[in-house]
Amino acid sequence: MDRDNTIIADPGYIDDPDMVTLLPGAADSIRRLREEGFAVAVVTNQSGVARGMFTEEQLADVHERMEELLHEQGVQLDGIYYCPYLDGPEAKVKKYRKASNLRKPEPGMLLVAAEELELSLPESWMVGDSARDVIAGERAGCRTILLGERNGECSPDYVADSLEKAVEFVVEHKDDPPKGYEEETDQPRAVDMGKLMAEQAVREQDVVALLTDIRDSLRRHERKQRHEDFSVLRLAGTLSQMLALIVGGWGMMAFFSDTVTALTRFVLAGFLQIVTLTAFVCSEKRS
Ligand SMILES: [Mg+2]
Repeated sequence: MDRDNTIIADPGYIDDPDMVTLLPGAADSIRRLREEGFAVAVVTNQSGVARGMFTEEQLADVHERMEELLHEQGVQLDGIYYCPYLDGPEAKVKKYRKASNLRKPEPGMLLVAAEELELSLPESWMVGDSARDVIAGERAGCRTILLGERNGECSPDYVADSLEKAVEFVVEHKDDPPKGYEEETDQPRAVDMGKLMAEQAVREQDVVALLTDIRDSLRRHERKQRHEDFSVLRLAGTLSQMLALIVGGWGMMAFFSDTVTALTRFVLAGFLQIVTLTAFVCSEKRS
């Protein structure tokens, strides 16, 4: 917020605390903003210091008086930032004669305030009665309100004929998208949404692919397991089949000489044949 002709009356270069008078509605406006969660910082060009009209100490007294008057109405400011510098021959005090990016329409004071008070500039507003205020606000990336009448020197987001109306507007638009968001990102937002959905779909596909992999891997494992079981049973069956044939042949060799031995061997061969059949039947069932 600008100071002169925005919060306090502007009779010219104020060098005396007794000259400070709050503009009607100023205290209430600041209170309202702070109740709405805004920080209120004053940013004021004070080239009177460079011009040799008053000192920084006197300026401090003026600001103290302004704060005192606000306190009387139960209102506090979050910060006061001023620029004492001025470039050119009008700056009589050499120490303050310089171009400064703190001096509005440069945005320096707003940037410092945002840094110190941890404010989001695109969500902040610059309110003042001159084009310099609006331009500084724009350069800082804020939304801007000009108090008074629109003129060709600047293009504020809104023109209000009083601080109270400006605050009304700010509160009404408190939840609007931040400065620069609405026009630049409307289209990209739709694209972003599409991108987001695509990413979501990819994530879902990834999960499905992963689950499919796990399922296939489990199936392969199961098949392998079956195959292994099958092989063991087949091997056992094949071995016992071979043994059965050998024992059977061995029984045949004794058949004509020793019938009892031969029968014993046939029984053994029969048992091995049963084992063989059992093994094959089991392996069939498993696969
Ligand atoms: Mg002003």
